[in-house]
Amino acid sequence: MNHSQPMLPAAEIQADHAPLLHPDILRPAADIFSRRADRLRQLAEGHAMADFLRLCAAVCHQQQALHDASRLDPHSAMLRLSQSLGLQLPAPVQSALTAVLALETVALSRLAENLLNGDYPADGPLFAALPLLGAALQAQATRSIRQRPLPAPQSQGARCPCCGGLPLASLLQRGDSGHAQRYVVCSMCSHAWPVGRVRCLSCGNSRDLLYYSLAAQDRAPAEPDHQQPHQARGAREVEACGECHGALKQISQLLDAGAEAGADDLASLALDLLAGEAGFARIGFNPLFLPGRAPG
Ligand SMILES: [Zn+2]
Ligand SMILES: [Zn+2]
Repeated sequence: MNHSQPMLPAAEIQADHAPLLHPDILRPAADIFSRRADRLRQLAEGHAMADFLRLCAAVCHQQQALHDASRLDPHSAMLRLSQSLGLQLPAPVQSALTAVLALETVALSRLAENLLNGDYPADGPLFAALPLLGAALQAQATRSIRQRPLPAPQSQGARCPCCGGLPLASLLQRGDSGHAQRYVVCSMCSHAWPVGRVRCLSCGNSRDLLYYSLAAQDRAPAEPDHQQPHQARGAREVEACGECHGALKQISQLLDAGAEAGADDLASLALDLLAGEAGFARIGFNPLFLPGRAPG
């Protein structure tokens, strides 16, 4: 399974829809993984996937410990996750984790490198432990990019300008001028780069877009309103592109101040299903939710 999306040619990235005053790249809070864990526990209340969300919360709690610790290689980080999460993990994850920990250093590094790019074995003996490897890489990348100066936020690109990571989801926030500002949160370093508000991240299309939300799932999906692009539709919605048929989750802190991109994405996988049934493929890459290959 390959999540990488076609990249825009450089000339197209440059001036296309660049705002006059470009906002800065957002740094994640120092306790981002603790906050994500709290948000996941809150969203788990009464949720159809409560057990999954609580397990993700436990992983995020350990990600915070990894983030706060000194730099660890993937094997040491996985060993730590294995020791701290232990029996909380379902049996198939425990046995896949044992298989990952038994890999040679070179093989584990290759697995990690591919996973960063959304390329992973979507079945087989290692698969069930890959979200933990993704979680370890995410904690390390967040720690390491937080310690570096920020690059100029010049791109409208589909890859993170800080670390080259894949997009996790887009995030709407109130900008300095009071207007809504849209960012894309990186799946690896958790920094967020500013992008145009009504525009497919994958192909740049800004016209043929549809917005799905669970609140309005019995109605036809909304079309873009370029004047009021963030009229109340839902704090969690999917921007679906009629050109490339990609769909990116959009989390709005304007409509829900407590929303957190990583957590709210996991709690709204039903939306991806809805968009998927309409023929749109998920663009966002969330290490804690790696789709598998259907058997057969
Ligand atoms: Zn990044
Ligand atoms: Zn597109």
